[in-house]
Amino acid sequence: MIGRADPSAGADRPAAAGGDPARRAELARRLDVISERIAAAARAAGRDPAGLTLIAVSKTYPAEDVVMLHTLGARQFAENREQEAGPKVNMVTRLLGEPGGGPAAGGGGAPAGAGGAAGGHELTWHFVGQLQRNKARSVLRWADWVQSVDRSSLVGVLSRLAVERGRPLSICLQVSLDSWSDSGGRVGSVVTGSGRGGGDPMELAALADLVEEAPGLTLRGVMAVAPRGEPARPAFARLRAVAERLTVDHPQATVISAGMSGDLEAAVAEGATHLRIGTALFGERHGVP
Ligand SMILES: *Cc1c(COP(=O)(O)O)cnc(C)c1O
Repeated sequence: MIGRADPSAGADRPAAAGGDPARRAELARRLDVISERIAAAARAAGRDPAGLTLIAVSKTYPAEDVVMLHTLGARQFAENREQEAGPKVNMVTRLLGEPGGGPAAGGGGAPAGAGGAAGGHELTWHFVGQLQRNKARSVLRWADWVQSVDRSSLVGVLSRLAVERGRPLSICLQVSLDSWSDSGGRVGSVVTGSGRGGGDPMELAALADLVEEAPGLTLRGVMAVAPRGEPARPAFARLRAVAERLTVDHPQATVISAGMSGDLEAAVAEGATHLRIGTALFGERHGVP
C-alpha cells in the first residue's frame, strides 16, 4: 500500500540524505502511525488498504525530509507552490544521486509511464496548488501529476507542454465542494476556480472531455479539499457521486484524491483512493498554509 513495502529498502544507501537521525526516527514513527490510521480506516470501511495511495505533502519541509521518507519507502510526494517546489525537487534528485538530472532532462530521459510508476526508486511528484498559466512551464519540469485542473484555459497549455517534454502528465480535475450550494447541488456542475477570478466554471463533464482529448494528458480522476466549517464526510460523499458519474464516460478516471491529515477517515469511508497527508507526516507547518 503505502510505501512501507520493504523497510530495508534504501537502508544500504549511504547517508547521502545527510539525515539527522532524530528526524529520521521521527519521520519513521509518523509514517508508521499514519499507515496504521489508513489501514484502520480501510478496515472500518471494508476496503482493501492496497487500494489506497499515500501522497506525502512536503510543502514547507526540506528536500532532506523527502529523501528520508523515500528511504523509508514513500514514493509519492506533493507540493503546492511552484517557487518552492522547483528547487526542492532538483535538490531531492541530486541527493538521491539519480543520473540524468531528473525529469527536466527532456524528451526520452524518463521512463515511459513514470507518472504512475511507484515501484522503483523513482519518485512521483504531484502538483496540488492553484495553478497559473504562466507557472505551468516550471511546474511541468518536475510534476508527473497536476491534481488541480479547475478550468478549461489550463488544458491547452498543459497539453502543449506535456507533448513538448515528451512525457505524459496525469490530470485530476479539482472539484469545489464549497460552492456546492452555489451550484444548486447539481452533481458535476462544480468545477472550481476556488472562487478566484479567472476561472471559467463549466460542467465537469465538459472539462473531462477536453482533457481526455488533449494530447499528452491522461485523465485520472478528481481531487478535492473538504470545505471548512462543515463536516467532511457529507462533502466527500458528494465528491464520490461526482467521481462515479465521471467514470460513466471515462471508466479509467478512477482516482478520488481526497483526505488530508484531519479528515482521511471520512475520505476513505467515501471512496478516496489517494490521500494527501502533510501535517501528520512532517509535523505542524509554520507560517505558510
Ligand atoms: C497542504 C495540503 C494538503 C495536506 O494537508 P495536511 O492537513 O497538512 O495533511 C493536502 N492537499 C492540499 C491541496 C494541500 O495544499
